Amino acid sequence: MKAANNGAGSTNGVSIHSSVAEYFGINTFGARQMRSKLPNDVFSKLTDAIRHGKKLDLEIAPTVAQSIKEWAISHGATHFTHWFLPQTGLTAEKHDAFLSFDENNSPIEQFSAAQLIQSEPDASSFPSGGLRATWEARGYTAWNPASPVFIVESGNVRTLCIPSVFIGYNGEALDEMTPLLRSSDVLSDKAIKLLALIGDRGVQRVFTTLGPEQEYFLIDRTHFALRPDLVMANRTLVGAPPPRGQQLEDHYFGGIPERIQACIAEVEHELYKLGVPIMTRHNEVAPSQFEMAPIFEETDLAVDHNQLVMAILRRVALRHGLQAIVHEKPFDGVNGSGKHCNWSMSISADNELDKLNLLKPGKTPHQNVRFLLFLAAVLKAVHKHAGVLRAGIASSGNEHRLGANEAPPAIISVFMGKTLTKLIEDLAAGKQADKSAADELISLGVARLPEIEKDNTDRNRTSPFAFTGNKFEFRAVGASQSIAWPITILNAAVAEAIDDLTTDLTAELKKTRKVDDAILRVVRKAFRATGAVRFEGNNYSDAWVKEAAKRGLPNLRRTPEALAQLTTPAARTLFTKLGILSKEELESRYHVRMERYVKDMLIEMHTLKEIVDTMVLPAAYEYAGALALSASQAKSAGIRTIPQRERAEEVGALAVRLKAGRDALAKLVDRAEGMHASLEKCAVLLTGSGAGAMAEVRAASDALELLVADGSWPLPKYREMLFPV
Ligand code: ADP
Ligand code: MG
Repeated sequence: MKAANNGAGSTNGVSIHSSVAEYFGINTFGARQMRSKLPNDVFSKLTDAIRHGKKLDLEIAPTVAQSIKEWAISHGATHFTHWFLPQTGLTAEKHDAFLSFDENNSPIEQFSAAQLIQSEPDASSFPSGGLRATWEARGYTAWNPASPVFIVESGNVRTLCIPSVFIGYNGEALDEMTPLLRSSDVLSDKAIKLLALIGDRGVQRVFTTLGPEQEYFLIDRTHFALRPDLVMANRTLVGAPPPRGQQLEDHYFGGIPERIQACIAEVEHELYKLGVPIMTRHNEVAPSQFEMAPIFEETDLAVDHNQLVMAILRRVALRHGLQAIVHEKPFDGVNGSGKHCNWSMSISADNELDKLNLLKPGKTPHQNVRFLLFLAAVLKAVHKHAGVLRAGIASSGNEHRLGANEAPPAIISVFMGKTLTKLIEDLAAGKQADKSAADELISLGVARLPEIEKDNTDRNRTSPFAFTGNKFEFRAVGASQSIAWPITILNAAVAEAIDDLTTDLTAELKKTRKVDDAILRVVRKAFRATGAVRFEGNNYSDAWVKEAAKRGLPNLRRTPEALAQLTTPAARTLFTKLGILSKEELESRYHVRMERYVKDMLIEMHTLKEIVDTMVLPAAYEYAGALALSASQAKSAGIRTIPQRERAEEVGALAVRLKAGRDALAKLVDRAEGMHASLEKCAVLLTGSGAGAMAEVRAASDALELLVADGSWPLPKYREMLFPV
């Protein structure tokens, strides 16, 4: 074959010891690589489409397809696939070979413009939340040229992946990426208008930036394989906490063990080849928990890259005999995993505004009132749509994490830091309304806002949504979810707020011609209106739960009630008015997530039942039998003290409790599975009585684990899984 398969296994010719700069992005074919391969006019049309988020010009598609094919084949790819994000949280692929036959029936490698641009996976195999019924099963994937194509290496197989959106034949969004792209476009349009109004012209695009910090666990693959709960549900459903968990905080500051280090380095190596700019690696709080964070990128690309991070982590870990777990709460009693989404807005322009971060304080009064204006937009967005933002991170996994004294509670509030809080409150109090913006900033003692950036030291780690100097950090996002959806919601909410501020400002500008003064007035009003959502204290405390209730902030602890936020008029207006989701598309998202919740819960319950029936109860009976035998032997031998009896009674009593709990659970599962009529009712049953029944089974099983002889316990224990020797 003519492919440059230089036999270096999965490394495509670059060793882990090569310099990263030499091979970074070697397996991607984006704008940078295309520059040398494409004719100038084609390249400039393509970059224009990418830069302005436009569709690909059909005239240049054949040339682009040809160069992608040549590049892919020279890198050993035999197949291609449209790679997209259905509403499963994972990515989907359907591979086709480049192989074709010419008119002489000779084999050739073919890849047409049509194949690059569009493909038809079987839409019926992906969740559509009812859209399928209305609009038939058919859907197609379409290349999103803003995200470079890339080659995935798996063993000796190389596949060209074409990042795509997945839509129905009438353009309905069936995936997670389409709404995200729409939300990016809307936010850009609204922000450009607001910027123009305040005199910042020549802006081509306002794009959001995203740096997701991914938390995960790495455990021994053998342990994983011996735990049906981890295999089926990615989370342990039973397991007594070990005496040493994370209380010594020794894991966080300890070195990374060598085997883990080797695995992580290889993950990074693979990701570098795919152009994913991983920056930091470190241990996390829980034993065997780690984090990796990239350098932030434009949101759409960062979302694709985070999907790759999760996929590559899982794949490469296996090569090292490890299992990567990205579930939100795989182990009770120690911290779960989140995905802090660092988010900001930046400008793309052909003047000095280019690359300006709108959430970074500036040096002049105008720059600072602009900063405050966009800050106000985010505060308004989170204040108005705290419930919808909560819905965006609702899943069976995250339910165990939020509010469990390790992660922010289910109440969405914003942390601003000391300096900004003082500024916001002074401004809101607004005694100097007659002063000019410049004078007011000086009299508030914040003429030099850049100081805020340094005010990072007192960061509040308990806040679900924190301002950290020049970006917000949405911390309540779950580790396993695709971040496309929560960021779509955030973009939408901010776009709406920007629009509202534009209306307010237009009205103010009728009263004064001093733009900065008008901005400050609008900002003051926004700060006043959004006070309830700002909270600087300890979000883990019970006092906050009470205080938040007084402030009228939603505290949506369970997934069904959080998801119900998607059905509110405010949510519907938000998405439909901005053209990000139609009413039907929004409803479909609600249904897909509710259905997923019910499925996740039922899978967990069936798994738990099976573990109890086939592992835990048999172990308890066996141990009780061994104790009985030993007791009767002791008695025959004339021994007077027979403590085995008491232990056998204890084990027996717990087994009775466990059996009763298991029976109650089984009944509940039957009931839930019989509730075909109402998904909502079923979800409510599962999240209430269902979760309660699981907790009772777990409590009995965990008590047994602490009594039954270690050698007879059928499951790897937390101690073994989390503290590898
Ligand atoms: P931390 O102290 O939380 O590690 P860092 O400043 O190192 O904070 O950033 C964490 C993440 O935030 C990184 O992925 C980083 O690239 C990202 N980040 C930094 N600036 C921005 C920005 N303007 N927009 C989006 N993400 C950003
Ligand atoms: Mg962080």
